[in-house]
Amino acid sequence: MSSEVDVSPAAPEDDRTRRMLTVTVWGEYVHERQMENVRAIYPRGMHETIAAGLRTHLDGRVTVRTATLQEPEHGLTEDVLAGTDVLSWWGHAAHDQVSDEVVERVLRHVLAGMGLLVLHSGHESKIFRRLMGTTCSLRWREAAEREVVWTVNPAHPIAAGVPEAFIIPHQEMYGELFDIPQPDELVFISSFAGGEVFRSGCCFARGRGRIFYFSPGHETYPVYERAEVQRVLANAVLWAYNPGRRAKPPRSVNSPMGWFERLNGAG
Ligand code: ZN
Repeated sequence: MSSEVDVSPAAPEDDRTRRMLTVTVWGEYVHERQMENVRAIYPRGMHETIAAGLRTHLDGRVTVRTATLQEPEHGLTEDVLAGTDVLSWWGHAAHDQVSDEVVERVLRHVLAGMGLLVLHSGHESKIFRRLMGTTCSLRWREAAEREVVWTVNPAHPIAAGVPEAFIIPHQEMYGELFDIPQPDELVFISSFAGGEVFRSGCCFARGRGRIFYFSPGHETYPVYERAEVQRVLANAVLWAYNPGRRAKPPRSVNSPMGWFERLNGAG
């Protein structure tokens, strides 16, 4: 068939539940090596705890690997990304050390259909800001205060098995205004002991890619060991997986009159 029009069919919907998915959990891995209190919580790095949670909650459905900033090309080579169905991203102290070349590579794969989970302080990562087109800035305070995560979209797949509300005893406060585009879907809102609220679980589509931002996850509290948080991230992996992913992002195509009729054998 002519390659002028990109018509390769998407996999059937039930492919979502049958295929073994490959997840790459990316960790900046700076705080864990530099701060004793973080290392005490995450001795092998936050990425390993996040990966372990996904393996537990998606046993038999995912292959999970990790990659870190310190690896060549940050562990995100073309081959790794081409073989990744969903990438998760945790960064904070070293956003600027992520190479622009790798950011462009991740962007291209997201637009072509790779899923992306952006976690906590990843809100200011190069890739998230690039995808959102806004500053992604927010209000914050480190006071070990209580966060309540409210499920505001219980029918959403990312909320499956998640309580109406769950408490994280100690968290960094993230508050509005969170400078993002209006999310396509809002799944969670958080409130804090100090009174602030925050859009803590936001869904976006960019190109063929699905993106989920989830804010709980400050490095000095064991947030990624919590079952509810692990459940949310596992659900988000399944949601972000796009069986209709292609090799390249959408592009403009010159399409002669009737191209879709010929495509269906009717022309
Ligand atoms: Zn933080």
